[in-house]
Parts: sequence; C-alpha cells; structure tokens
Amino acid sequence: AKAKGRNTYHFYDPNLNAAAKERMIIENELRVALKDKQFELHYQPQIDCRNSEIVGYEALIRWLHPKKGMISPVKFIPVAESTGIIVELGEWVLWEACRFAKRLEDQGVVNNVAINLSARQFKDTNLVLLLSKILDKTKVSPKNIHLELTESMLMGDIEAAIGQLHELKALGLALSIDDFGTGFSSLSYLKRFPVDILKIDRSFVKDIPQDTSDMAITAAIIAMAKKLKLDLVAEGVETKEQIKFLEDNNCYIVQGYYFSPPLSEANLEGFRKTLGSQ
Ligand code: C2E
Ligand code: CA
Ligand code: CA
Ligand code: CA
Repeated sequence: AKAKGRNTYHFYDPNLNAAAKERMIIENELRVALKDKQFELHYQPQIDCRNSEIVGYEALIRWLHPKKGMISPVKFIPVAESTGIIVELGEWVLWEACRFAKRLEDQGVVNNVAINLSARQFKDTNLVLLLSKILDKTKVSPKNIHLELTESMLMGDIEAAIGQLHELKALGLALSIDDFGTGFSSLSYLKRFPVDILKIDRSFVKDIPQDTSDMAITAAIIAMAKKLKLDLVAEGVETKEQIKFLEDNNCYIVQGYYFSPPLSEANLEGFRKTLGSQ
C-alpha cells in the first residue's frame, strides 16, 4: 500500500499541469527572447474615414520565435505580466515605438503612435522618469505619443491612478482608455480621469449592423465621449457597413482589418502607397 505522504499527488490534474508547464516554458523562453531580440513591433494604421488619411498607428508587439514562428501577444503578455518580465519588455516597447514616432516626424509626417501599457508598468513609480528620459533621448514630440490604458488598470486605488495620469499628462503625452466599455464599474470615475481618447472596443463593433443593442451601445459611447470632449477611435472595424454606421454617428477615426492589419515598418510603405492611390 502507498503511504499518503505527498498531498500534491492527490491533487494532480493533468490539465492544470500542462498549462503550468506551458507557462514555465514561455517564461524561460521570454528571457531568452529578450536577450536575443526576438521581438518586433508592428503598427496598425488608424484612419480618418472622411478622407482615408492615416492619423496614427497603434504599436503591437510580435514575438518571432526561432522555432515556433510568430507567437501572439495574447499568449505571452499575461505571462510577461505575472512574472515581471513585462517591466523590461515594456521598456523596450516604449523605446522602440518612440524611435518609430521620431522617424515619422523626421519624414515630415504628423502622426501619433499609440503604445499599450500593462498594469504593472502603469503602477511602476519609475514610469514617469523612464518616459521623460525616453522622450528626451529620442527627441520625439510628446504630443504624438499616446499611451493606451485599460479601465481595469485605473480601478482599485483610484486616487493613485489619477495622480499617475496627471503626471503622465504633464509630460505632454496623450492618454487613451483602451477597450472602452468592457471593464468599467462606474462611469462617474470617467470624468475624474484626465484622459483624451476613448477606444471603442471591438466587441461592440464586430456585430454591427446585425446587433441592434451593440449599435445602441456604440452610439451612446460616441455621444458621451462628445459631451466629455474626448476623441474617439473605433477598433476592430472590418466592414464598410461598420464604417458607415460609425460615420453616421460622428466617430471618424477607425482602426481595423477593413483598412489594414498591423504591419511591420517595412510593409507600411506599401500600404501608404495603396491608400494614396485609392
Ligand atoms: P488591444 O490593445 O486591444 O489590440 C487590438 C488587437 O486587435 C490587436 O491584436 C490587433 O491586431 C487586433 N485587431 C485589430 N484590428 C482588428 C480587426 O479588424 N479584427 C480583429 N479580429 N482583430 C483586430 P494583437 O496584436 O494580437 O494584440 C492583442 C493584445 O495584446 C492587445 O489588445 C494588447 O492588449 C496586447 N498587446 C499587444 N502589444 C502589446 C504591447 O506592446 N504591450 C502590452 N502591454 N500589451 C500589448
Ligand atoms: Ca490597445
Ligand atoms: Ca483595444
Ligand atoms: Ca479590444
């Protein structure tokens, strides 16, 4: 008979174990990837649909794994976040995206570059100092840099979040609330956050024009943003009908596969040409 010595034996769950194992593999590989520079930023154009001109880009990270190919950030950002690797990885993203924004400026292009921040980065007391150093060294105009924050990052310690937002604004950056409408517990906080832009989440956009509730929600978000004098970006826009609906409701800046997926910097040039010749 077996002794009942090791409790862990009784709780053995092959599924849980496989998930934990995958996380551990990703964690180790992330450290190697940072060292070996396996990351790349791709840029998804944000278009003013009134004139089909590019107004900016969202920087989205890609992991080009030497054996597994491209790995989605949906898979590795949460691991990077929970292990703290995000601090170094996020710092790399900030440098890289600001250098890209500066290259655009040097070409005489006035476009903004939106950068995703993780919760851990946002809460980091060194963030403001790091950003002021990056802005200083890259010489990019701060107003062209937008930081994307999610609602859940701002909840919890509201006063601390508001303080951090004010410090970031003082650097001259613009602030966006990403995935708007998916995580808010109270709208009354919105007016206290010194933010500039709301990004309407894809989940509200994707079933337009079939889902009348989603259309009502989207129209209400747009109306509210106008009243609060916030700019708007609709994300995940894939069809002409969605653009028509958004335009009819006075939301003009769109991001989504209808115009373009995120592209490598090398591929952006080709996209700009096709857009220009339309
Ligand atoms: P997100 O910030 O909401 O980014 C938008 C996601 O929607 C991107 O996925 C983008 O490729 C995708 N997308 C854009 N247009 C369309 C469309 O028309 N249809 C559909 N189906 N999808 C569309 P991606 O690049 O896989 O990124 C996923 C998430 O990973 C991001 O969601 C963001 O939360 C996170 N992420 C990506 N890059 C970074 C980063 O540099 N730092 C941090 N902290 N998070 C990042
Ligand atoms: Ca985003
Ligand atoms: Ca988003
Ligand atoms: Ca989203």
